[in-house]
Amino acid sequence: MFELTEEQRMIKETVRRLGIEKLEPRAAEVDRVGEFPWDIMRILGENGILQLPLPEEYGGINADTTTLCVVVEELAKFCTTSSTLVCIQGSNVKVVSRSGNDEQKDSFFKRLSKGDGITSFSLSEPGAGSDVGSMKTTAVRDGDVYLLNGRKCFASCGEVADFILLFALTDQEKKLRGGVSAFILDKDTPGFSIGRSEDKMGGRGVPASELILEDARIPIENLLGEEGEGLETALGAINLTRLTVGVQSIGIAQGALDYAIGYAKERVAFGKPIAGFQGIQFKLADMAMQLEASRSLLYRAAYNADNGAPGVEGLTSMAKCFAADVGVSVTLDAVKVLGGYGYMREYPVERRFRDSISLLFMEGTGEIQRLNISRFLLKE
Ligand SMILES: Cc1cc2nc3c(=O)[nH]c(=O)nc-3n(C[C@H](O)[C@H](O)[C@H](O)COP(=O)(O)OP(=O)(O)OC[C@H]3O[C@@H](n4cnc5c(N)ncnc54)[C@H](O)[C@@H]3O)c2cc1C
Repeated sequence: MFELTEEQRMIKETVRRLGIEKLEPRAAEVDRVGEFPWDIMRILGENGILQLPLPEEYGGINADTTTLCVVVEELAKFCTTSSTLVCIQGSNVKVVSRSGNDEQKDSFFKRLSKGDGITSFSLSEPGAGSDVGSMKTTAVRDGDVYLLNGRKCFASCGEVADFILLFALTDQEKKLRGGVSAFILDKDTPGFSIGRSEDKMGGRGVPASELILEDARIPIENLLGEEGEGLETALGAINLTRLTVGVQSIGIAQGALDYAIGYAKERVAFGKPIAGFQGIQFKLADMAMQLEASRSLLYRAAYNADNGAPGVEGLTSMAKCFAADVGVSVTLDAVKVLGGYGYMREYPVERRFRDSISLLFMEGTGEIQRLNISRFLLKE
């Protein structure tokens, strides 16, 4: 059975306190304005939450996947933006830990050690979302720089990031078979600019940005890993983020269920609290059941990922896909429990419903997860 360690319990309690006192009170406003909340980021940085995935010498605890999931789930109950920031940071720190050389690790981690640095991950392009192999952005070696050309899209935090882990083709013939490379792009890189920022349905505190590369000059020292190994780097990152994004769905939906339970006890219809009607009781029971099942699957996948168990990719896709579907279904049920009030912006369940929808697509859609699962099942 999965049990939290003493350290994880303490971290969870700290996050919960921050969530109640500082994050949840800002969540509705962040959603309304749809701008990146620098104050939220400062709170997470000052309390060491953003630094958790960093090695100890850079102010972190080298948080494993399970610990990151515990943090993200707890944050997501209160504030989707906060949980997304930790997802992104966790994944990108792990990528650089795994694929970066000593100099890259030192400069990347130093920049994040005070909790005031932001990173982004940019794989998707207008014509290459699920179909990564249709990527068009190129990187051509020219002396001691790579010249990058192309357009990326939907990069979460792209426009506010100090560094972006960005993927481009160094060999247009090989494509996914050794033609993709990973780069650390500094925001001040000549030839790099930010394009449009999407107007999103949910998760509105985290900008989804278009990135424009016009002969962007990236020094060769910023090639992450070996040339041609970018796909493995990207997949390694996505595997982790599938779990932190999945657990975000669970946290958001748990927040909605908690609110719906409180509401059902207070709201009176036909002379008694609606919690007294079996129709509402069964709905709440189903919501809790789906969440517990999803949580068990997800933490099993996280445990396996931390312990290097074989076949974790299939389990990770199952956990993400199931959690995302449960997240949408539970938050929609929360809206229904509140009746017409659930549809109004004044009540925090409609926001959670919208936020949970964005998680259906991040780190791969349900169809792509099902393809991964079946590939794993059918493999010799
Ligand atoms: C809120 C948000 C944040 C994001 N953040 C990032 C980010 O930080 N960095 C980044 O790189 N990307 C990011 N993305 C992009 C995300 O990874 C893509 O949206 C996702 O991979 C799907 O790609 P697409 O949108 O191009 O859809 P498409 O690939 O065009 O898919 C359209 C539909 O076709 C289905 N489909 C496609 N191929 C198949 C198939 N073989 N079999 C069955 N069905 C199929 C899909 O499941 C989907 O239903 C973000 C997206 C969102 C919504």
